[in-house]
Amino acid sequence: MTPTSDGETGQIRKAKAVPPFESRRERFDRVKVAETALCGMGVFATAPVKKGRAVGRVLGERKPEGFRSDYCVEFDGGALEPFAPYRFLNHSCDPNCEFIEWQTDDQSLPQEEGSERKPICELWVHALRDIQIGEELTVDYGWDWRAAIPCKCGSPNCRGWICKPEDIELCKARYAEEESNIVPRSEPPQ
Ligand SMILES: [Zn+2]
Repeated sequence: MTPTSDGETGQIRKAKAVPPFESRRERFDRVKVAETALCGMGVFATAPVKKGRAVGRVLGERKPEGFRSDYCVEFDGGALEPFAPYRFLNHSCDPNCEFIEWQTDDQSLPQEEGSERKPICELWVHALRDIQIGEELTVDYGWDWRAAIPCKCGSPNCRGWICKPEDIELCKARYAEEESNIVPRSEPPQ
């Protein structure tokens, strides 16, 4: 199994294998949704997670390719609008988790009647490093620069923008352009 980087979004690794059996049994996630200090709701670990292990499976509503919302994730040639808890997964430029899209041909999974059995895609959250109880779980959204917004994740290596790392110069250039378009306010009349 060799997960490869998805050049399109920069946010999802793809792996052609079944997630580790133990992870599948642990799909009843040990996370909770709670208020964060700065970013509204967030997802927090309620049990320690070892580096590389699955945190849980992301369930959601399938959407067509090109669908956009504040929460949707590119998935299986289209998009997935995640249900809670992972709907509330916040961005960090120094994330402790990542999305992995798994392709599984697990014969025990349900299949539409009459349809040919084909691989099933699943989206999972995996730990990038050891995570302690109570830590907020974060991923790097790695958005396209056209959709980028300023980042306030607070990590020491914050890029300043929620965008793909390689697009940071494009984002900064766009921001500079917007700044130069702001017309200085004239003095109020005496
Ligand atoms: Zn940041």
